[in-house]
Amino acid sequence: MNIDLIHKAVADYEARHGISNFHIAAALIDMDGVLYDSMKYHTLAWHRMISEQGIECTREEFYLYEGMTGKATINLLFERVYGRSASDEEVQTLYEQKAKYFVEIGRKEMMPGATQMLRVLMDHDITRVLVTGSAQNSLIRYIDEDYPGAFDPQRRITALDVKRGKPDPEPYLMGLQKAATTHTSTIVIENAPLGVESGHAAGCFTIGITTGPIPAEELKKAGADLVFDSMQDFADTLPLILDITASR
Ligand code: CA
Repeated sequence: MNIDLIHKAVADYEARHGISNFHIAAALIDMDGVLYDSMKYHTLAWHRMISEQGIECTREEFYLYEGMTGKATINLLFERVYGRSASDEEVQTLYEQKAKYFVEIGRKEMMPGATQMLRVLMDHDITRVLVTGSAQNSLIRYIDEDYPGAFDPQRRITALDVKRGKPDPEPYLMGLQKAATTHTSTIVIENAPLGVESGHAAGCFTIGITTGPIPAEELKKAGADLVFDSMQDFADTLPLILDITASR
């Protein structure tokens, strides 16, 4: 990443928020597609479950719904096909089935570069909060094993904690509360357009990372302040971003 691009992104953010001293005290971090290379399995599980309901869908479309809660995704499909929302019972049954298929695929791979990224944040005393649209305990429970010490148990927000999932700003606004920081001293780390939209709407400096088939352009359109091609690229550049923002 070109250093001028970082300076420009920070200056643009400061101008937008009427500040001159953006610095980073906390990072609100998405899980699927950021800490785990798991989206390919989520889309597979969604496609299998929804197809079995006799609902026409493509695996690709589930990448676009990434970040939404399971309930919101099921409702979106029900509205499209039946012209109504799903009942609570239907949501529960279908989401459980999707979760079962996801678990059957086995242990999910950690995202290359994620450990390094978290290490840099920890070394710089940046508060970390997990903000996921998932309610998939099978993955959430591996966090402590895979990323020891990275997330305080009190600093985790899942689909079960929010009323409105991404792209609504609520999950990241709750993340700010958990971090006890304001939006102008907090970054959001996201891989999906709806997640970027949520972080941007919460007023945070939002970093988009393309770790799946969705092009960088879509993350920019959703409001990302900076976009990286991979988590490794972002992890390598993070110390520079912290230096630049600390010296403003
Ligand atoms: Ca994600």
